Amino acid sequence: KTSMKSDIEIAQASIMKPIVEIAAKIGLEENDLELYGKYKAKISNEALNKIKTNEDGKIILVTSINPTPAGEGKSTVTVGLGDAFNRLGKKVMIAMREPSLGPIMGIKGGATGGGYSQVLPMEDINLHFTGDIHATTTANNALAALIDNHIQQGNELNIDQRRIVWKRALDLNDRSLRKVVVGLGGPLQGVPREDGFDITVASEVMAVLCLASDLKDLKLRLSRMVVAYNVNKEPVTVGDLGVAGALALLLKDAVKPNLVQTIEHTPALIHGGPFANIAHGCNSVIATTAAQKLADYVITEGGFGADLGAEKFLHIKSRCAGIKPEAVVLVATIRALKMHGGVEKQDLAKENISALTLGTANLQKHIETIKSFGLPVVVAINKFITDTALEVKTLLEWCEKEKVPVALTEVWEKGGEGGKELAQTLLEVIGKIQNDFHPLYELSDSIEQKIRTIVQAVYGGKDVEFLPKAKKQLADFEKFGWSHLPVCMAKSQYSLSDDPSKLGRPIDFTVTIRELKPSIGAGFIVALTGEVMTMPGLPKKPAALNMDVDEHGNALGLF
Ligand code: ADP
Repeated sequence: KTSMKSDIEIAQASIMKPIVEIAAKIGLEENDLELYGKYKAKISNEALNKIKTNEDGKIILVTSINPTPAGEGKSTVTVGLGDAFNRLGKKVMIAMREPSLGPIMGIKGGATGGGYSQVLPMEDINLHFTGDIHATTTANNALAALIDNHIQQGNELNIDQRRIVWKRALDLNDRSLRKVVVGLGGPLQGVPREDGFDITVASEVMAVLCLASDLKDLKLRLSRMVVAYNVNKEPVTVGDLGVAGALALLLKDAVKPNLVQTIEHTPALIHGGPFANIAHGCNSVIATTAAQKLADYVITEGGFGADLGAEKFLHIKSRCAGIKPEAVVLVATIRALKMHGGVEKQDLAKENISALTLGTANLQKHIETIKSFGLPVVVAINKFITDTALEVKTLLEWCEKEKVPVALTEVWEKGGEGGKELAQTLLEVIGKIQNDFHPLYELSDSIEQKIRTIVQAVYGGKDVEFLPKAKKQLADFEKFGWSHLPVCMAKSQYSLSDDPSKLGRPIDFTVTIRELKPSIGAGFIVALTGEVMTMPGLPKKPAALNMDVDEHGNALGLF
């Protein structure tokens, strides 16, 4: 047993520098910032414009194997790797997503890293931060209110109220709101109809915020969002309703990236937070491209495993923003690999070489996937103190046999110092291994073909089955001229397949597409597989049970 402190104890014991000093490291002056207190700032539109002509830094994408409840530590490695580059004297920035309160109050904990690799102030970032998620929720719900009001006031656009696809949103896990009836109570209370809530991080507004290149592009994208179909079954957009300007106004500050620091004072942009299982899973294009202009190296992540976050980073975000990553870090833990090899959670602390070896099949699939995109990959073993020497040796030797560069990473325990080997391995790989980045599907492929390519090439599945509703939508979407858009898969994060119980490297499986959703503003078609939910529920023992605040306002129990 060790007396390791909790994430929040470590974070609270750290001494932050004023954010103005952190900004100076990347060439920004106080005038370029909009301060939110002493330790948080947004970068102003003028500053974002000013840096546009700077040269682009190199992007390193951090992804992982399929996560298990054991935890992969992708955010932890992202932060620690940034600190390691900093220690090696490189000009580096981290670009990450903002955490959602759904998982924070629920099950997963914060998304600000862990141990000695965290971004600060962790309580603020995990709670309300600079209000961007609030603004996103409000824009989403303002639109919902405007749609219902349009119908109440005479329904000039002939919206079929049974075919409204825009839902309300809330940044919490609240299963009771998945399906609701609104407008009850008589003629003055609106028109009754079935509605539902999504978690804000699954809202198209969040995706639009994250894929927009600037405020002007944001407004255009908002105006293209499809909210309903009219009585002739034609799409009705935000532009038709005439409210793109109002929504953009609500988001005018949320669209600016937020600057904070790590425990080791490395500058980090935390901006935008779509989930990777039910949305596209990457922080904002504005933040990533700004980081590229401000630093020589940018460490960024895609959510969950390489089958979700990385696939979407490479097919959706990179394409949309013209980004080309230099290399990909694939985070694996020995604990999670043992789970993929069949070990139950309560037995993970016991050495188990045969389960570890079996579990490497999951890692192997993701290595193959990243290579198939033409990108160099480095495996980062995120070391836990329970890993035995023999287990570590076994995994290192497996990587050697597979001829994949690997680095043991101890950033959780040691901060940036524990990530130097990974950083050095990356620097070598970037200089040496050929980068031939290319997407696996073309935009000109049909929607059906794009989905099939992802299922076969990225998940390793046999085929795709489209349920009748999805089949009908394929035909409709073609008719509406949406076939050229990339696909955003909504799928369980736990398995390469759409069945969360299939761990390791399942083969011969068929993925079921039950429904498609047009996200024309974001610029993709969402394909819903299996049982995946766009409004999660809380677990039996929610993380909220451990949280508190003392009389001085200090947060307690936030991991
Ligand atoms: P991910 O980004 O993959 O979801 P995080 O980086 O958020 O994972 O980590 C999840 C949790 O696991 C955090 O509470 C973090 O402190 C913990 N964690 C990560 N790496 C380690 C490690 N090497 N040893 C112990 N705990 C860790």
